[in-house]
Amino acid sequence: MQTLKQLDSQVAANLADVRAQIEQRAHDAGREPQQIKLICVSKTHPVEVLRKAFDAAGGEIDFGENRVQEAESKIAETSLRGAGWHLIGNLQANKARRAVKLFDVIQTLDSIDLAKRLDRLCAEEARAELPVLIQVRLADEATKAGVEESELPALVETIKECARLRLKGLMTIPPFFADAEQVRPFFRRLRELRDELRAQNVFADDAGELSMGMSHDYKVAIEEGATMIRVGTAIFGERAAR
Ligand SMILES: *Cc1c(COP(=O)(O)O)cnc(C)c1O
Repeated sequence: MQTLKQLDSQVAANLADVRAQIEQRAHDAGREPQQIKLICVSKTHPVEVLRKAFDAAGGEIDFGENRVQEAESKIAETSLRGAGWHLIGNLQANKARRAVKLFDVIQTLDSIDLAKRLDRLCAEEARAELPVLIQVRLADEATKAGVEESELPALVETIKECARLRLKGLMTIPPFFADAEQVRPFFRRLRELRDELRAQNVFADDAGELSMGMSHDYKVAIEEGATMIRVGTAIFGERAAR
């Protein structure tokens, strides 16, 4: 087990390493590294650890948090001002207002009810625009969040009617396979769905983001077209159980 202090001093090196990997994989796949946004998944880690990454990145950084409550104090931290904040965990209805006030992007929109609620809360909170990604569940895993493919068109239609929501793209959390190659078909499928939606001009800035890939499979995700990868462990080390 690493102590917090050791872990902390490794963050800058890990971040540089992940960035180098992104560059390499992008080039190998014939893509531009700038097409791939790194979301540093900072859930469970204390603010001092986030600051290491923030400083190493010169403040040009995006963090991913999965709990509204936990993110609140981090986002309020003045020493992290200017960072981008992405909600990547399930959003419960009773936390939606706080999420609207806190996050730059909500990546886990997964129901018509939640879309309508977020739109209404944006109006109440005088927030003109809220960028969202739809979380898609591609495998038959009842325990996981996300809409099924068959539910996607109806949710997209609803978002179109929500004046303040900006549909940016799709996000998925595929089933875990130790062998990242086995995840490839899920990434490919998300890209196909994105391409179909893009052809219908439903995305706020027509490209359509693909948020997919975590520490153990982001290289495969880049090959399959990811434009946002969500990397925690490879940057911040193992998370303590909670
Ligand atoms: C925790 C988490 C990640 C990061 O996972 P790592 O394996 O630590 O890179 C990415 N996406 C989501 C939705 C997560 O909850």
